[in-house]
Amino acid sequence: MSTSQRVVIIGAGIVGANLADELVQRGWTNITVVEQGPLSMPGGSTSHAPGLVFQTNSSKTMTQLAQYTVKKLLSLSKDGQSCFNQVGGLEVATTPERMQELKRKQGWAFSWGIETRLVSPEECANLYPFLKKEKVLGGLHIASDGLALAARAVQLLIERTKQAGVKYLDLTPVTAIEKKNAKITGVTTPKGSIPADIVVCCAGFWGVEVGAMAGLPVPLLPLAHQYAKTAPIPALKQRKNPPNGASLPILRHQDHDLYYREHGDRYGIGYYGHRPMPVNAGSLGLTPKNVDEKNMPSRQDFTPQDFDPAWKESQDLLPVMEESVVEDGFNGIFSFTPDGGPLVGQSPTLEGFYLAEAVWVTHSAGVARAVAQQLSGERSEIDMSECDLSRFDEVQLAPEYVNETGQQNFVEVYDIIHPLDPKQSPRNLRVTPFYARQKELGAYFLESRAWERPHWYDANEVFVQDLPAEWQPVDRDDWSNKHYSAIAAVEAWKTRTGVAMYDMTPLRRLEFSGPGAIDVLQRLCTSDICKEPGTVTYTLMLDDFGYIRSDAIVARLETNLFQVGVFSPDSLPQLTIEARKLSQRFPARWSQVRDITGGTCSIGLWGPLAWNVVSQISSEDFTTACFGHHRVKRAFLKGIPVTAISLSHVGEPGWELYTTADNGQRLWDVLWQAGQEHGIIAAGRAALNALRLEAGNLDWGTDMTSEHTPSQAGLDHLVDQGKQGFVGQAALLKHFSTSKRIRTLVVDDPRSVILGKEPVFYQGRPVSYVTSAAFGYTVGKPIAYSYLPAGIQEGDVVEVEYFGKRIAATIGPTPLLRQGGQRRAAKQRALVAAPEVRARL
Ligand SMILES: Cc1cc2nc3c(=O)[nH]c(=O)nc-3n(C[C@H](O)[C@H](O)[C@H](O)COP(=O)(O)OP(=O)(O)OC[C@H]3O[C@@H](n4cnc5c(N)ncnc54)[C@H](O)[C@@H]3O)c2cc1C
Repeated sequence: MSTSQRVVIIGAGIVGANLADELVQRGWTNITVVEQGPLSMPGGSTSHAPGLVFQTNSSKTMTQLAQYTVKKLLSLSKDGQSCFNQVGGLEVATTPERMQELKRKQGWAFSWGIETRLVSPEECANLYPFLKKEKVLGGLHIASDGLALAARAVQLLIERTKQAGVKYLDLTPVTAIEKKNAKITGVTTPKGSIPADIVVCCAGFWGVEVGAMAGLPVPLLPLAHQYAKTAPIPALKQRKNPPNGASLPILRHQDHDLYYREHGDRYGIGYYGHRPMPVNAGSLGLTPKNVDEKNMPSRQDFTPQDFDPAWKESQDLLPVMEESVVEDGFNGIFSFTPDGGPLVGQSPTLEGFYLAEAVWVTHSAGVARAVAQQLSGERSEIDMSECDLSRFDEVQLAPEYVNETGQQNFVEVYDIIHPLDPKQSPRNLRVTPFYARQKELGAYFLESRAWERPHWYDANEVFVQDLPAEWQPVDRDDWSNKHYSAIAAVEAWKTRTGVAMYDMTPLRRLEFSGPGAIDVLQRLCTSDICKEPGTVTYTLMLDDFGYIRSDAIVARLETNLFQVGVFSPDSLPQLTIEARKLSQRFPARWSQVRDITGGTCSIGLWGPLAWNVVSQISSEDFTTACFGHHRVKRAFLKGIPVTAISLSHVGEPGWELYTTADNGQRLWDVLWQAGQEHGIIAAGRAALNALRLEAGNLDWGTDMTSEHTPSQAGLDHLVDQGKQGFVGQAALLKHFSTSKRIRTLVVDDPRSVILGKEPVFYQGRPVSYVTSAAFGYTVGKPIAYSYLPAGIQEGDVVEVEYFGKRIAATIGPTPLLRQGGQRRAAKQRALVAAPEVRARL
């Protein structure tokens, strides 16, 4: 985009002000920031934010956004004073579970490159003398954490961007978004229209209202959160007014949903343990002209009864508070989303309208930079897919869903969450046509994107006793035992040796049709899609910089009709935008794309006996001679119309069988019936995840993201070397030398089952982290993927840290097993267990 385009930023909070600054730094010259409140104190969440910045997060993205924010706030200074008071952070544990969680958190810190120290109760007390030492089991100290001086930062950013020519209009609410032909043209205010080519909504918890003006549902819930200040405390007074009012580390006591900071001789106490208090931002009315500390729209009256438990617990943890009282408090409003992450990106329906919403101060500069980079056509070094607005499906945009999940996220904000923990509520929102049968088989359901997804089936428990010795599951620790059953071993075994059916319905699929569809696919995909109908291409879509945006399975059903399985939610808007652009230029090359996921369903029928099942009931020849790998065919299975794609996610032969939702249950029944004599079972995602790791299949979003090139992901073969003109092609030429590469780690001790995100050490130094992991049932050991420096080779030994313990792992081949895993399993076991055996094979 041209940097002379007209940009309007709605909102002058920490996000809007940072965005103006980031754009100025990139040479943008025509920026207007429109703010409904007075510029000196606009009255949004930033105006009262206590500004604690704890950088370490289970998400790499969020941690990196925080790291950049700290760096920027440190660099933002006036009169020798920066906007970040780097007092450090201390997270204390008062329960054994939290102590374990702090070890896990230190693992993330190693993984994402933040220096931390696990400290004893004595050291906690040294770092924080007011703590009741006997209450504390230990802590995590992060020296680079601290306090953002958010309101000051906003004023400095306004000052410096004004000097660079940015226009600020305060006391000016945006009341409408102007558009023409699905393109933004400006914003309306009581003072008149402001024309714009790009509008970025940085309106904080007013995002829903501004989104509605643009016809965009914004899945955000404003919630009030309590923050209180004590009266002066003699012990703090003796600390003699440290610079910026604080010198003790910021303190988190997550076992009781509490955090603390100093305000000179007072304590500030934040509390998440109270009931959720949702707010309708639209009901708050116009921001007054005279906003001050006590009178601002984001500040609601304190409800002392909600704070009582917090005050009692605070006095217990920090007895110096016994000499004080709560003197001031408020219920401050800010945004929560269904998964707790920010909402960033362009509206899929209105070109030029962007969101940067639900952003904490902690991540503010990082998010602003990512948006500025996107607008400026620069690559964001941080993978922003977790923040992408398009990550929610339609059902997740419903106000009821946002309301319930937003509140749940508030309640859980400091909870210890297992990576597989599903939402408690709402549940059973999206079930596949096989749901009734799955329940009959005792499916253990977990939830993802509002879909109920079987993890294993209790009905298969009867086979546990039949498991051959080398397939017997190992004992696990409590953490990796959560949402786990030995039944998964049975399901993996049966898939490798017999046949299993997997419900693949939730995988997103699109129908793409019209004479221009092939042009759009050729432009976006790395492989040549221009093949005869009946072919299936597993391919990548790249960004302009040659990094992976998504992987996709493109099945050419007819000359102008494709079924496209996509793994990134952003593929639908990407295809839609590209199709629109093409048809605007060449109307005859029109195409249309629609999401058919909910209206269809899919069963993965995989295993060496898959053919035996399907051949009994099919109208078509499913033998390899007539139905080779990566082909698509329409057929009838006992009268049910299916689209069959010959591909496998588990490394065993078989098909993905699609039909419409109305035929789904019958398809399940027909396969189930036909499979009985071959010992068919239903299998769940626990087995699927293990088998796909063994088979070398990468998951988008964890094993491959926009941080990775095809070479690094070992997916060069998906890039057609002879093909010209696809997005990212020119940039790919720069990636020939690969500094890191995905590797399969085989953990030496079979009982140490890792789950993902754990740090990886080589010769004592942290070098990477686990992207995903599982117990590899075929090889009898835990396995994992990790991007390792190119110098670390197959056969080398690394260490994975799990809850503070280092576990040795050997780099194995990728994939560990090729198709027909069971037949090769014995050989592979030998390979993995004893490298010297390899030499003889
Ligand atoms: C009590 C409390 C404690 C918190 N503590 C922390 C903490 O310790 N650490 C942390 O990282 N985060 C904390 N947060 C969260 C943090 O304050 C917010 O997430 C952050 O300030 C949001 O910044 P923003 O720029 O997106 O929104 P805001 O600061 O709310 O700015 C949005 C601006 O948009 C303007 N606006 C809205 N609609 C319109 C319109 N139609 N036209 C024109 N202007 C409009 C508003 O007036 C407002 O000024 C806390 C929040 C609360 C409530």
